[in-house]
Amino acid sequence: MPIDPDFQKNLKVTGEEKGVKVWGEIKPPEKLGIRGTIVAVDWDLCNGDEVCISTCPVNVFEMVDTPGHPISETKSNPINEAECIFCMACEVQCSEQAIKVTEG
Ligand code: SF4
Repeated sequence: MPIDPDFQKNLKVTGEEKGVKVWGEIKPPEKLGIRGTIVAVDWDLCNGDEVCISTCPVNVFEMVDTPGHPISETKSNPINEAECIFCMACEVQCSEQAIKVTEG
């Protein structure tokens, strides 16, 4: 199942780390929720393959260690989401459909 495209309606902000909002209930290390708003990454789907890192022309993402998560122990964090130029490359390239980019 891909990231919920309506996560901003269906989930609540439950935290913030390094200026990146956390959406949805979290129960670390197994359940980590969605990170980011303009560029949102569902950490419970992210497999840590870093395709978004190599694809993004403006370095929106950085990898974060998430030891103990059942899918992968590193996740992509949209730390520079304000820099996004809406090329949509990350959303298209993500094999797990873990990313949702919302323009405007
Ligand atoms: S849409 Fe493009 S610019 Fe924005 S985060 Fe994804 S790859 Fe980077």
